[in-house]
Amino acid sequence: MSGSEFQLIQSYFSDPKPVQRSDVILGIGDDCAIIAPQAQRQLAFSIDTLISGVHFPENTSAAAIAYKSLAVNLSDLAAMGAEPAWFTLSLTLPNDDEQWLNEFSQSLFSLATQHNIQLIGGDTTQGSLAITIQVCGYLKQDKALKRSNAQVGDLIAVTGELGAASIGLDLVLGNNSQVHKNLSKIVQQQAIEALNYPQARIKEGYYLADFAHSALDLSDGLLSDLGHILTASQVGAIIQLDQLPLAKSLLHLPKQDAWDRALTGGDDYELCFTLAKKDWLKVKQEFPQCVVIGEVSDKKGLHLMKKNGQEYYIKATAYDHFG
Ligand code: ADP
Ligand code: MG
Repeated sequence: MSGSEFQLIQSYFSDPKPVQRSDVILGIGDDCAIIAPQAQRQLAFSIDTLISGVHFPENTSAAAIAYKSLAVNLSDLAAMGAEPAWFTLSLTLPNDDEQWLNEFSQSLFSLATQHNIQLIGGDTTQGSLAITIQVCGYLKQDKALKRSNAQVGDLIAVTGELGAASIGLDLVLGNNSQVHKNLSKIVQQQAIEALNYPQARIKEGYYLADFAHSALDLSDGLLSDLGHILTASQVGAIIQLDQLPLAKSLLHLPKQDAWDRALTGGDDYELCFTLAKKDWLKVKQEFPQCVVIGEVSDKKGLHLMKKNGQEYYIKATAYDHFG
């Protein structure tokens, strides 16, 4: 990029500064940023890249791309029980479209402000559209929510409804349009919103850090992601299908198709966590949208149970976490 283009991009990201944290000694503008982290707290780092045409359809708005790029990273902090603090942004852009950049930076900073996370640096290159964000946050000392600590007898819960983003993706791509033709406009909008503007469950994760045994965020789908907890913790799980919190946009589907979406649909970004039964009520009181969906068991594998006690074998998946 030429000097003037670069200048222009700089002006979108370094001025004005909507979030200014006291632990940032030096932000954007020098060779490195400098942080003075608070004493007695650990730091959590995560990085995710979103590529146009791979992680979002090419016609996605700049506002949605910015929001989602930061939100999926915030979601990783949430899944660890961390409090957001700083992030860096690597932007690869095909051109320096001012309107696009304006929309992108406004949306990015609006979400950053909500979570008090400060942009402290980045890199800007020319090429096919790709956004990489690295986030960093504070953990309560020795209280990180790892994947490897689920205990036999734990309840398994999620922080909200499942499956909406997969319907949203169908809608923006025009897939299965016959199946979805009777969805109301409002429910369609909610599904597309779930896809483009996922909500990072930061408050939930930070609260759960004090007593949940394990957690992760649902990006690839419940079965696959919960499988990571089971593998890391060397335990099994029993899921009660009738307890799955199905998104409104799944209710028009035959029951098995709705289950399959909730179990394998990606991009939900709810947290899935395990905790001792005695701790459940306080979580439910604090976050009523949290729902128990099953239990950690010593019987290896992931077992999906119908109300009548029969096991359900899902066809729409190739995951290898079935033990
Ligand atoms: P260097 O050549 O030392 O890597 P750059 O010219 O890439 O520095 O960047 C100059 C400054 O602008 C650095 O502080 C860098 O962190 C910041 N910066 C560059 N691109 C971005 C961006 N997309 N978002 C935030 N800060 C950026
Ligand atoms: Mg650079």
